[in-house]
Amino acid sequence: MSSMRGVFFLEPGKLELREVTIPEPGPGEVVIKIEAATTCGTDLKGYKRGHRLFRPPMPFGHEYAGVVTAVGAGVKQFREGDAVCGANSAPCNTCFFCRRGQQSLCIGIEDSFNFGSYADYFRIPAHIVAQNLHHKPENVSFAHAGFVEPLACAVNGVINADIQFGDTVAIIGPGAQGLMQMQVARSVGAARVIMIGRARGRLEVARALGADAIFSSQDGDPVEFVKSLTDGRGADVVIESAGASETWSQALLMVRKGGTIVQYSGLPGGTQVSFDATHLHYGGVTMKGVFHLIPRTVEMAVQALASGAVDVAPLLEGSIPLEQVEDGLLRMARSEVIKLAVEPGLTG
Ligand SMILES: [Zn+2]
Ligand SMILES: [Zn+2]
Repeated sequence: MSSMRGVFFLEPGKLELREVTIPEPGPGEVVIKIEAATTCGTDLKGYKRGHRLFRPPMPFGHEYAGVVTAVGAGVKQFREGDAVCGANSAPCNTCFFCRRGQQSLCIGIEDSFNFGSYADYFRIPAHIVAQNLHHKPENVSFAHAGFVEPLACAVNGVINADIQFGDTVAIIGPGAQGLMQMQVARSVGAARVIMIGRARGRLEVARALGADAIFSSQDGDPVEFVKSLTDGRGADVVIESAGASETWSQALLMVRKGGTIVQYSGLPGGTQVSFDATHLHYGGVTMKGVFHLIPRTVEMAVQALASGAVDVAPLLEGSIPLEQVEDGLLRMARSEVIKLAVEPGLTG
């Protein structure tokens, strides 16, 4: 068999399942048979309105876990039959930003992205094999191992929040990222995690995953709610993962003097957000933007899945064959599901 199926992104609102040639690994590369490729909010955004990084027509999907079927010259750490998972990008480690330890800002990161995991087979380029491909822990299913990339981003958001043992952490946005960040925050020492959202169903998932308090913005002012739980001070740390300019502003009102905010969600290009400058300045608040992942957080994500520190099972709401990727994204758009595992082994 030399041909395979792969989902292609043609233009906003249009995907196509194509018959293409199975890739061959070049030097340093591996080819894997996809066991599970998880759907992602970035795919949905790109599908609906295009994406800066999407150059259609292009192979689609970027989260993955699978089994190595071919290994290129020079690859030593993987062999045929190995179960693997990982990220779909890797820094150059030589540019201005990488030399300063800011690998998520690597000038080559955008060109390093590897797409095409909604397919029977997926080629992993050498720079990713070298840095961000890992052996799948045996006790983690392929579908859960597909979460390594988004979890690595979530971990990067949380470790940049400098959570101290005993802190109260408020997270805005109970989507896949917020629900993972909540668990990471707890495992790095937060004593109390408050989840703020809108949809009550998602907030109940947060509660089931260990949120100490949940609050829907449909029921009042989340800032007042957080203050009522913290003697009027606000949370020690706030992580904004909801993706709206209102919640970016709200994050600043919700943090205590001397606290830290991570503005984690990306807003559409050119968005302006207004802030309470008095609280930022006189309150000595630290506000950071955090984007993407670094190789160290990819490793941490693999470990978090293996140890059970992060439970992704409640975020995964079913498996679908390649034929149903478009339908699956539409189900995400309607907020019926958080994430789905695309499993090429299933029949449409
Ligand atoms: Zn993703
Ligand atoms: Zn770089």
